[in-house]
Amino acid sequence: MLARAPGRVNLIGDHTDYTGGLVLPMAVDLATTVEGTAGGDQVRLTSENLEGPAVVPLDVAEPSAYQPAWARYVAGVVAVVRPARGFTGQVATTLPVGAGLSSSAALEVAVALALGFQGSALELALACQRAEQLASGVPCGVMDQLASAAGVAGHALLIDCTALTVTPVPIPEDVEVVVVPSGEVRQLAGSAYADRRAQCETAIAVIGPLTEATLEDVARVRDPVARARARHVVSENQRVRRMATALAEGDLETCGSLMAASHESLRTDFEVSTPRLDALVTELMATPGVYGARLTGAGFGGCVVALTMPGALGGGWPVRAVGGAQVEAS
Ligand code: ADP
Ligand code: MG
Repeated sequence: MLARAPGRVNLIGDHTDYTGGLVLPMAVDLATTVEGTAGGDQVRLTSENLEGPAVVPLDVAEPSAYQPAWARYVAGVVAVVRPARGFTGQVATTLPVGAGLSSSAALEVAVALALGFQGSALELALACQRAEQLASGVPCGVMDQLASAAGVAGHALLIDCTALTVTPVPIPEDVEVVVVPSGEVRQLAGSAYADRRAQCETAIAVIGPLTEATLEDVARVRDPVARARARHVVSENQRVRRMATALAEGDLETCGSLMAASHESLRTDFEVSTPRLDALVTELMATPGVYGARLTGAGFGGCVVALTMPGALGGGWPVRAVGGAQVEAS
């Protein structure tokens, strides 16, 4: 059995998924594979990338308690998928681990498929979102897992995280998506993430769902921190919608401006950027041939994503949009 699941990069729409908003990621041509044989009464995986093994009984109760730490993701998947048979195999990936391209979601989705998960791409994503929450204790949204499960070659994915619909948006041929690592390892992402989520809830208690709120509604939130968080989310949802339209129309200048505005909002209103990410975005925005750049993912380090003319950047990782996770051999 060989299962493959891609990572993702989010073009725009960060910290909008867990309040049911809009995101625009794409599955990338960097992926995690799980290869092995079904059987036995435990799941036993080694990884080319991290020390192991991960050994998880089929009746796992507490996924977050496993060692080494990456075994928690495996345990989370076992706890949600509840396979009838065990599995022995290896994990390998071409994704950078812990850099913001969702190696964790790719691992969960590949493990779920290797364990024989049956269901739609959405069902697979929801199962793996639950697995990640059980494993990490972080109340993450569904974007990463859904982008990995439902990728479409040559397309970004406009995801409505309330309706859980995925609308493929064609990416023009004459543009390159480049991921530029900041070199900064994400820190405090878990607790800061939970704080941001709670601050959004404070705003929601005053003005209702952020997906339906306007910026005038946001102005009614008294608490200044909650107000700023909500302003990011409401304005970001608008930017995602406009970006999907601009991308489909090939209006790359507009795409670039929206990306720059998104970064600014994440920096000032949502406060998840870092000086290093800001410097990188500023440098990229000043580089000829770059339409736009922004931090991508949860922030606090990780990567910047840039939309460029082909070949405009010497460094970084140019990525292509690929199809979603699948079982490649069994
Ligand atoms: P990201 O998803 O952005 O790469 P996370 O911190 O969410 O970063 O997930 C990284 C974690 O996922 C790793 O620390 C490890 O526990 C697990 N992981 C991801 N890929 C692998 C892999 N190929 N082998 C073992 N563990 C992995
Ligand atoms: Mg992750």
